[in-house]
Parts: sequence; structure tokens; C-alpha cells
Amino acid sequence: MGTRPLLNRRLDGLGTTIFAEMSALAATTGSINLGQGFPDTDGPEAVREAAVRALRDGRGNQYPPGPGVPELRTAIGDHQHRFYDLSLDPDTEILVTAGATEAIAATMLALLEPGDEVIAFEPYYDSYAACIAMAGAHRVPLTLRAPSFRPDLDELRSKITPQTRLLLLNTPHNPTGTVLTAEEQSSIAALAVEHDLLIVTDEVYEHLAFDGAAHVPISTLPGMRERTVSISSAGKTFSFTGWKVGWVTANAALIAAVRTAKQYLTFVSAGPFQYAVAEALRLPGTYFEDFRADLQRKRDLLGEGLRAAGFRVYQPQGTYFITTDIAPFGEKDAYAFCRALPERCGVVAVPNSVFYDDPNAGRSQVRFTFCKKDDVLHEAAARLQRLAS
Ligand SMILES: *Cc1c(COP(=O)(O)O)cnc(C)c1O
Repeated sequence: MGTRPLLNRRLDGLGTTIFAEMSALAATTGSINLGQGFPDTDGPEAVREAAVRALRDGRGNQYPPGPGVPELRTAIGDHQHRFYDLSLDPDTEILVTAGATEAIAATMLALLEPGDEVIAFEPYYDSYAACIAMAGAHRVPLTLRAPSFRPDLDELRSKITPQTRLLLLNTPHNPTGTVLTAEEQSSIAALAVEHDLLIVTDEVYEHLAFDGAAHVPISTLPGMRERTVSISSAGKTFSFTGWKVGWVTANAALIAAVRTAKQYLTFVSAGPFQYAVAEALRLPGTYFEDFRADLQRKRDLLGEGLRAAGFRVYQPQGTYFITTDIAPFGEKDAYAFCRALPERCGVVAVPNSVFYDDPNAGRSQVRFTFCKKDDVLHEAAARLQRLAS
């Protein structure tokens, strides 16, 4: 095949995801996998039954409509109205995707030209770097620094150049758990207006903001509707990460652009699951409250175990994850630590260092997920206790 590398240059360095590597390690060592963020309990029985019913009734077994089934688009619109007082036209302002992952890819491919710059928080969700690269654009990280992991808005301003096209936000933020305040988002919105930037916001943890913190979609702020693409998904909110039903909400012009890319990625997906997610989005408020309270309790359970084992714990305000620091063990290299952890105590975690461009920024940070059964979290805490002795 000659000497030319097979992988195109845009994907250089993107390798295999850390989750594949660490989940494989979990399997071969029989470790508790607190690396990848998927729940070990499925979501509501009624929602599962809705999927079964759709399959049996032959709804969605053949190609559903490109933008998503009308029942789901209407349910997404009603959800946005119910929780955020946003009014969206289900026909032109809502697009169903194969999870948030495809929504991110389609949005980047649709909105970016080669050479554009995208400012994104780091540590970042790993698909951001890949999708920006596939679009031929450049990522410009804005580092969220321990211990607070708040964005430095002066630094954000200083990173904006004439090539900047888009600000990529994620709140609640994976992996740090930062929930952007209304004030921070107002400042970000003002910068976007001043420099005429698009905003793409990944809000898959919208229902997992803890301790009374409010999740404020930036699209609700004045003037943001015209420049914001909002992304969410059923996976995290309803504990069905395998269903891969996500969505994009934005004005009609932005949706039309994203739909153009999306139709040539998957065209459509997850037919019967779309009907089930439509029902999930209409669950009573108690579902969302109980879900959040349950995850907050699990956060505290794992957090306590990690502190007792000797980790420095950065308390997350949201998501499925706790970021820790291994400095108290006299260790500095999170990657080496995570490779050794299964042998040392039968637990798998992931190094946050792989989510940063700046090799020093997250060098000693390790991420654990707490979206697991209580007994699994207790057992993990007991195993991690070996590090303390
Ligand atoms: C899990 C996750 C996604 C992917 O969502 P899917 O709906 O499973 O594709 C996107 N963004 C963040 C921040 C996530 O944690």
C-alpha cells in the first residue's frame, strides 16, 4: 500500500478513546468500572415498555422522517417550554439525531469552514476534538483550572481572533461538574454578540445540576436564539445510553444547516426508541426531581469513599462524574495511576489529562463516575481504601 499513512491527517493523534482502553482493562482484570459514564440500572420501566409497544405496533421499524418522528419533536418542544419557557416550532426548530454525539458531529460539519477556530473548555468531552478536526477547523482550549474549574472570562476574551467562529460550551460540564451561572453565561453571550460568534451548547446533563444550582440554557438569554445551537439527549436523563436518541434545538436557519449534514451521516436512527423517548420527556416532575436527588446522593456516597481513600476531591455541581487529584498520594501522572489502579485495587477510572491539550493542566487528575448501584459504589470505596494503607 505504499508509504502514505492510511489515516488521514485530520484524525492524526485521535487514536482509540480512553474509554475503550480503560473499559477493556476493566474487563480483563475484573475491576469495577468507574471509568465510562453509563448507568448500571436501566431507566423507567414505563419508558422501556413504550419502546416495546412501538416495536410491536410497527412504529418506527422503517425509516422514520429525517428530522425525527413528529411525536418526539413535539415532546422535545413541550419539554423546552415546561422547563425553560422556550417556544420552539417542532417542524423547523427541532432536529432528532443519533444521540448528542451525532448532533455534535453534524453541527461542527455544518457550521465550520476549514481554518475556523472553535473555543472550547478543556478538559473537554473527547468527541469535540475529533469533530472539530473532522470539520478541518482548529480547537482553541479555554482551560478550566482546579480547584474551582470556573471559566476565566478575560482569558476567553483574549482567545477570540478574527478566525473564531464558534464557542462550544458544555454545562453541566463533563468531567469537572461545573455548572455555568447565569452571570457567566451572560458574559459569554455578550462576547458572542460583540464578536458575532455562534454558540453551540452541549446540555446532556441538563437535569443533573445539584445542590439547588439552576441549569440555565444560554439560548434563553436575550439575543441568543439567533446564534445558539443547543444539544441534548435522552441517554443521560433517562438512563438509556444505548438508545442514542439526541436532539438539536435552534432557529430554523441553524437547524436547516445542521440537518443538511445530519441527513448524510445517519439519515435517521432509533425509530421505535424515538416514540419511547417522546413518552419519557412527558414524565411527571417527580421523575426528574427524584433522578437528580438520587444522583446527588450517589455523588456524596462516592465522594466520601474517595476522600477516605486519600484523594483530593473536587466537589462537582452536576453530571455523573467526580474529578479528583492524586497529589496527596505523592503521585503526579494520572495516566500511569489509572493504568495501575486495576492491579492495585480492582477499580477503573480515567485520567482527565487526556481531555486537555495542555499536558500540565490536568496531569494529576482522575475522573470517577458515580452513576452506579449503591452496593457497587460501596464496594469500590472499600477497594479504594487499600490506597490509604
Ligand atoms: C455522554 C455525553 C455525550 C453523548 O451523548 P449521546 O447521547 O450518548 O451521544 C455528549 N456530551 C457529553 C458531555 C456527554 O457526557
